[in-house]
Amino acid sequence: MPFSKFRTNKDQLRFSKEQSYVWIEHSPVCTKVVDLDFNLQFMSSSGVKALAIKDVSEYYGKPYPFDFYPPSFRDEMSKNLRKSRDTGKVVKQEAAVVDTHGNEVWFQSTISPVKEVGENGDESIEYLMVVSIDVTRQHIGRRKLEQLNDELERTVYRRTLELERTNQLLHHQAETDFLTDLPNRLAFDRYISENIALAKRDKQSLSLLMVDVDEFKTYNDKYGHDIGDVVLKKIAAAIANTLVRNMDIAVRYGGEEFAIILPGVDAESAFSMAEKVRRNVERLKISYGNNDIIGNITVSIGVASLIHDELNATDIVKQADKALYTAKNAGRNNSQIYITA
Ligand code: GH3
Ligand code: MG
Ligand code: MG
Repeated sequence: MPFSKFRTNKDQLRFSKEQSYVWIEHSPVCTKVVDLDFNLQFMSSSGVKALAIKDVSEYYGKPYPFDFYPPSFRDEMSKNLRKSRDTGKVVKQEAAVVDTHGNEVWFQSTISPVKEVGENGDESIEYLMVVSIDVTRQHIGRRKLEQLNDELERTVYRRTLELERTNQLLHHQAETDFLTDLPNRLAFDRYISENIALAKRDKQSLSLLMVDVDEFKTYNDKYGHDIGDVVLKKIAAAIANTLVRNMDIAVRYGGEEFAIILPGVDAESAFSMAEKVRRNVERLKISYGNNDIIGNITVSIGVASLIHDELNATDIVKQADKALYTAKNAGRNNSQIYITA
């Protein structure tokens, strides 16, 4: 009977005991046969060699999996043998044993129920065949790949965080004035348009103060540019300290000029805020190193206030500038509200 005509695995084994043995014994896979109580009936030489078993016949008739296998392998194999026997299905597993040198050897095993057809045509399982292939290299390779993937993912995650932090820092630096630590002109342009949009949405007014140091050129000429810088820092701190609400924003608009955005504030309140800022600057005591420098540091302030439907950035800046010009002309160290001509 040609091989392809065999009806069952059992027929195949019966076909030629000798030939079957030659095939199985020369095959690199470890083949075992166990009875339905899982006692070993046969083990091919490749398995005997892999496990460095001296005399395999000592194990015949004894329970499989062997007790020298690690519990993890034993449990898995016992569970799957039961499953294959009870369901009549082919079951696959991958688990490790430890060889005589203490090395982990990973086996991929296929448990196949070998069925016999009775006289009445009924199939019943006669024994189980366990075919195991050493997949240690693939397993190690896969584990290594998984580890590398994990490391790569962690590195990418770390780098992304670093990049985000660097971006935030760069963004912050790009919008911060290095001398006074206040937001700079670039930030002002963003803040004013964002706050105008909010004011329009919430139907609120918005006020803007333009603060300019008085006669600062003269001050610089008299005390030097370095002291001028110290004064600008002090003024910046005085302005920031005068603002109490979170939404109020002070920026260094440029040179010796500052701007204060007051969302939701009307002209009257904006004017009293301007006066507070002006007085706090006037009270500043300027010192540099061990020297107290009693210079007259004052600011003039222009106030502009617009209700939501009139609001736009260009107009409010222009109006605050005009009011500032009026304050300068009125003798400096004072605040003026923009009044429509
Ligand atoms: P006014 O009262 O009309 O505003 O007179 P002013 O002298 O303050 O105005 P002007 O525009 O003539 O001069 C501004 C001065 O501000 C000149 C410039 O040296 C000084 N200044 C601008 N930026 C800085 C800075 O970063 N540090 C120092 N120390 N001085 C600055
Ligand atoms: Mg100026
Ligand atoms: Mg000035």
